[in-house]
Amino acid sequence: MEPTICLVTVADCLFCRIVVGEIPATVVAETERTLAFRDIAPKAPTHVLVIPKEHYADVATLAVGDAVLAGEVLATVADVAAAEGLDGTGFRVIFNTGASVGQTVFHAHAHVLGGVDMDGDLT
Ligand code: AMP
Repeated sequence: MEPTICLVTVADCLFCRIVVGEIPATVVAETERTLAFRDIAPKAPTHVLVIPKEHYADVATLAVGDAVLAGEVLATVADVAAAEGLDGTGFRVIFNTGASVGQTVFHAHAHVLGGVDMDGDLT
């Protein structure tokens, strides 16, 4: 089956443009409906973004719109963490949701962070 993308928003959305290959990215994992690629400005030794290929503005919208796809994003998060060797040491998953908490790209994405001691640091 062909990957699902939102052609209405692809021209305006940075991550939709990565999905269709218009903007290069360092892809580390891909499934039929999800994509994982390295953050361009990493905040930790491992900093990977996991997205649904279909456009949803944030994780809350994704969860309401397609809960199965939200689960697929989480499964890809787990696969990426294992592939990066983080399943034993631990990792952090962040979904910034809303500009007021720092969301800058309005296409749902999970930050997968690891490889450094974060303790209670929330960033
Ligand atoms: P957020 O602030 O939660 O919306 O996160 C957006 C993330 O996208 C930031 O960590 C950026 O560094 C990252 N980012 C922006 N442009 C790109 C790009 N072209 N490739 C990979 N990551 C990007």
